[in-house]
Amino acid sequence: MTPRDFQWATGEVWRDHFLKSLARCRRLRQALAMPFSEGAFESTVPAALFSLRGRRALITGAGQGIGLMLARGLGMAGAEVVLNDKEPARLGEAVARLRREGLAVEGCVFDVTDEKTIAIGLASLARGEFEVGGGIDILINNAGIHQRAPLELMSTAAWQAVLDVNLTSAFLVTRGVVAGMLQRGSGKIINICSLNSEISRPTIANYAAAKGGLKMLTRAMAVEWGGRNVQTNGIAPGYLRTEMTDVLTVDPVWERLICARTPAGRWGEPRELIGAAVFLASRGADFVNGQIITVDGGLLAAL
Ligand code: NAP
Repeated sequence: MTPRDFQWATGEVWRDHFLKSLARCRRLRQALAMPFSEGAFESTVPAALFSLRGRRALITGAGQGIGLMLARGLGMAGAEVVLNDKEPARLGEAVARLRREGLAVEGCVFDVTDEKTIAIGLASLARGEFEVGGGIDILINNAGIHQRAPLELMSTAAWQAVLDVNLTSAFLVTRGVVAGMLQRGSGKIINICSLNSEISRPTIANYAAAKGGLKMLTRAMAVEWGGRNVQTNGIAPGYLRTEMTDVLTVDPVWERLICARTPAGRWGEPRELIGAAVFLASRGADFVNGQIITVDGGLLAAL
């Protein structure tokens, strides 16, 4: 090494050292400035991070079961919640029940498979400056049905109905709501998937195909709108006790099978999805996109 090379090399070392120190100073200055700059620090305190105050959520199929429980959970986290169902009497009861609990909720009747009734329902929700997409900040595509049959005997109607309610509905309702989210530059979409987005069993081919499709639709939405600050994620519940699973819970063989297969050793309850839903709907999940959170007591991880 010539003296000139040495000088150059040490100069580089000093330059590097100087730049690193400068960056450290900048980070320190930013950290010290945080509490005083536009509430940046306050918004990272967990209570504020997971609060849904000031947000409006729409949950489909919320007249009972998981949807109703998620409405309660989001409402308790501060959101104003619009419950949807196609059955007006049941929806009315659900809304009245949550109002008695002190939550800010309203009902909106439409069939998630019917474009016309979706458009009418969303238009009825428009308010103030939020006229597009009903002013919805959080959408949970939850409505779902089962129509079980051995695949070789499954009717086209049963195949189509299950795809319509579990998969196409998420496309139709989201398309109606997302325009407003994109216009406002923020939104959260949560699709209720299933263990059957990953694994199947006999007699549910239509449901597994729909829920597998919903998982990929979740990723497609995430990719499509992630750059415009709209995050789309999914929740995949394991076996939970609801009206949908009544047919399984009353069968002692199934009841025992699910307990034996699930590392937690029991069925889940709808309230056990609230944590994942509030998280995904909150600012705490602003950098979470295209993910499916499985809430199944460990079933999917077990052989
Ligand atoms: P649920 O008790 O049967 O509730 C589903 C709700 O959706 C019902 O109120 C139902 O009304 C409504 N709905 C059905 N078709 C509709 C339509 N076309 N338009 C509007 N609303 C409609 O079911 P759940 O157990 O709460 O399930 C909720 C979601 O979680 C579903 O997507 C399901 O696939 C998923 N999931 C559930 C489990 C579980 O163990 N329970 C596990 C994995 C995934 P009607 O009764 O009038 O049809």
